[in-house]
Amino acid sequence: MAFDIDTFRVAPGDKIRLDKRDPQDTPHVDPDDRAAAETRTLELNGRLEELQELLWAQGKHRVLVVLQAMDAGGKDGTIKHVFEHVNPSGVRVAAFKKPSDDELRHDYLWRVHKEVPGDGELVIFNRSHYEDVLVVRVMDLVPKSTWKKRFGHIRAFEELLVDEGTTVLKFFLHTSKEEQRERLQERLDRPEKNWKFDAGDLVHREKWDDYMDAFADVLEETSTVDAPWFIIPANRKWYRNLAISEIMVNALEALEMTYPPAPADIAEMTISD
Ligand code: AMP
Ligand code: MG
Repeated sequence: MAFDIDTFRVAPGDKIRLDKRDPQDTPHVDPDDRAAAETRTLELNGRLEELQELLWAQGKHRVLVVLQAMDAGGKDGTIKHVFEHVNPSGVRVAAFKKPSDDELRHDYLWRVHKEVPGDGELVIFNRSHYEDVLVVRVMDLVPKSTWKKRFGHIRAFEELLVDEGTTVLKFFLHTSKEEQRERLQERLDRPEKNWKFDAGDLVHREKWDDYMDAFADVLEETSTVDAPWFIIPANRKWYRNLAISEIMVNALEALEMTYPPAPADIAEMTISD
């Protein structure tokens, strides 16, 4: 299965028309080959486990994964399925909800910067500073003159992270409005999913087109060579998992990590009885 991750990468200067991209799509994979794709994802996740072990053992690189999507877009499912084998030591999920009063008393990057990965860590952002140019824009929580400037801040913030040794990977899980309807309906219908139902999601759903415009601007304004966005067709969960696993493994392999050198005298070491 030849998989070209550049298919999903947003290059600086790309014009993004989300309505021209099919969330149902399965680039490089025959949609009837789901079983083979799932086997491949399991293999990749095994490799991801090894690479994360190496990341933690070496303690040199930092990895930040940003997940953004509409409600019911699959952020939680991605975390569960792509990262199910990694070692909880060295991996952390930071979820960004509606800011607290204390958070609102500070600039919007304050709460975010505190959560970025340290040496050897892999941190997954379930929502992120991008909410401050998405929900905040669509729901009119700050004036346009304020959110417009944030694209520049965000590019500079991520450049800082990259310059200081962080690998930054950003995924937009692209689902359709119809798929969202089905997933929200499932949250109503299935008792074990009821807890996920949030009536607020319906308010955001009414503004679907505004969100798509806001996402398109985010993708155009903030995808850089060193902190790229990947647009993942995400209606089919198995495909979403495969694509993100491929990109994760590819990015971690590129770090060419090695285990730290053994102590010079290790050959002479003996363990007493
Ligand atoms: P969930 O991720 O489903 O638990 O929902 C979290 C909610 O918090 C979503 O409706 C987000 O849009 C909202 N949220 C996250 N960050 C912000 C922010 N900076 N300003 C306003 N709302 C936010
Ligand atoms: Mg929710």
